[in-house]
Parts: sequence; C-alpha cells; structure tokens
Amino acid sequence: MNIEELARTNIRKLTPYQSARRLGGQGHIWLNANEFPLPVSFKLSQKTLLNRYPECQPKLLIERYSSYVGLMPEQILISRGADEGIELIMRTFCEPGKDAILFCTPTYGMYRVIANTIGIRYISIPMLDNWQLNLSAIVNNLDGVKVIYICRPNNPTGNLINLQDIKQLLLITMYKTLIVIDEAYIEFCSFATLTNWLHKYHNIIILRTLSKAFALAGLRCGFTLANKSIIDLLLKVITPYPIAIPTADIASKALSKYGIHLMCKRVVELNHNRNWLYNQLLQIPYITHVYPSEANYILVRFINSSKVFDTLSNEGIILRDQNKIPKLTGCLRISIGTSYECEYIIKSLKNLSMEQ
Ligand SMILES: *Cc1c(COP(=O)(O)O)cnc(C)c1O
Repeated sequence: MNIEELARTNIRKLTPYQSARRLGGQGHIWLNANEFPLPVSFKLSQKTLLNRYPECQPKLLIERYSSYVGLMPEQILISRGADEGIELIMRTFCEPGKDAILFCTPTYGMYRVIANTIGIRYISIPMLDNWQLNLSAIVNNLDGVKVIYICRPNNPTGNLINLQDIKQLLLITMYKTLIVIDEAYIEFCSFATLTNWLHKYHNIIILRTLSKAFALAGLRCGFTLANKSIIDLLLKVITPYPIAIPTADIASKALSKYGIHLMCKRVVELNHNRNWLYNQLLQIPYITHVYPSEANYILVRFINSSKVFDTLSNEGIILRDQNKIPKLTGCLRISIGTSYECEYIIKSLKNLSMEQ
C-alpha cells in the first residue's frame, strides 16, 4: 500500500513553506528569519497551574492588547501566531473548491501554502516594479475572490503599500471582499498602522504578532484585529484552547507598560542598525540595488548572489536566499541583527569585494 496515494492531491503536489528553521544550516549569525537577535527575559509566574485547560481567549491578555492598540476587547482575537490568523480567515470565509484568495507577489509565502493545504484557489498578481499594487490587474481578477492579503510593510521587499491604493481597493471591493492587512512588522514603522481604519471600513482585518518587534517568535502568539461581527465568526472556527497557559502568561508580561517600553527601545536600536546597514550596503560595488525598508530586514540585489550566499554561509552568516523567487533574481534578504552582527556582515562583504 502506498501511503502517499492516500493523501489529498493538492497535498501531494504542495511545496511546503521553506521556513528558516526547516532550511536549517550552521552558523553563529542568524539573519534569515527576521527574528529579534537577542532573547528577552520574562519569567513564568510562580502560580501557573497546568492541570486545567486555558481560557480560549485569555482575558488579561485581551485587555492588555486592547489598550496597546487602542481598540475594544471585542475587536481582538488571539491566535497561535499570526499564521493561525491567516488560516482562520480562510477557513471562515472561503468555500474550498469555489472561493479564492488573492495576494500580490513577491510577498509572505504562507498565504499560498495555507490556501493550498485547505484546498482554496489562490490568485497571485505580480507587484509593479516599484513594489506597489497593480490595481487594474487586481480588479480584472476579482472573480470569486473573498479575501485579499496585503502585507504592510511587505515581506520581503520592506516597503509600505500606498494608502491611496488600499483605499481604492476597499472602495472597489466594499462588502464583497475582505482586505487583510498583515502588520507583522508594524512596530518598526508604527505611524503606518491602519487600526484607525477599522471604524470606517467594515471589510478590513489586521494581523499582528509578538514574533518580530516583541522578540517572542518562540512563544507563538498573534492577534487578529477587526470589527466584532468578523471576530465573532472567527471565534466559531478557532479551536477551544489555542493559547497555552505559559504563552498567555509571558505574552501578558510582554504587553505590560514595562514590556512595551522595552519593545520600543529595541525598535529604536534596530531601526538605527538598519539605517546604518543600508548606507554601508550602498557602498559595496557588486550590489546593484538596496531596497529601502521600513521593517527589520533589507532586501538586497547582488550581481552574484549565489556566491555571496555560499561564502557568507561558510563563514557562519545565514541569510535568506530569494534568488529563485520571480522578480527577485539575485536577491538576498538580510534581517537586522545587533550592531556587532551588522558590522560583521559588512566586513565579510567588503572582504569578498576585494577577492573579485
Ligand atoms: C513572521 C510573519 C508572520 C508570522 O507570524 P507568527 O506570529 O510568527 O506566526 C506573518 N506575516 C508575516 C508577513 C511575517 O513575516
């Protein structure tokens, strides 16, 4: 018996998400997953009892996130990372085999992978060369589209999608399509959040996470922000106990006044490192383009990206290879690390340039 043949056709054909952890590698400088480079030191509370199931939506955590984003508790859903939020939206709103989702590439790979695993059709529209939305192409492809995912700032390009274009899209699709704004990196450019659009538009959903600026990728905690009618539907679909008690405990601490203060300090430091790295990269002769970034990573186009990737990887510096992705030939994505890590990578790149 061939077990492979028992699997659904779309699963047999699926290329799984190439997560940084899955790709592995050996190194001492990890700049491939947009994680914060240093651990935070929150400790579990003494009285964390684990014999009981957790609350589905831990109350204290909802309250803390509510005051952090300035929204009502009923506009917030907690999930196992933003990735679970991406999936819940599809499972709640898209009929498998009938409805579709749409996203613009290059962008975060999980929209495609999750749609594939649930059996939802996806439409992928290439971004314009300035990494903005191709509105006319989107409008021509809206047949059966229930959800549009827009990553802002976009991963891996680092830019913000124009507000005018999103407004246009919201008006065009009003009441027929949901617009999901993935704000996984919004803390690095907090002025750009669209949370204050929730009261104006009923078809908008915002995704957030503690994995990036909050330095808690290992905790697995994300948030979906939307109006109550949407949150209520998602609550029907989410599993009964999605948030482990230790996760809720640490997440609540990360969202205390002090936790938020620490996060803001980290953002200032990382943004400073990013701007330094950006200016240094501009001076490397075999780099053809450094894309400006609002997030904690920079997309860089090299004349010889494979050689750069391999040489750095032999030196223990692990970057994210984007070379095989359409429109990203020759591109590597560099996560912003500590100032030591940023200086180290520039030193390595300059050595490489002397060898040529
Ligand atoms: C990292 C990332 C996520 C996933 O966040 P988790 O909370 O770790 O699941 C979602 N969207 C984008 C664009 C990301 O880069």
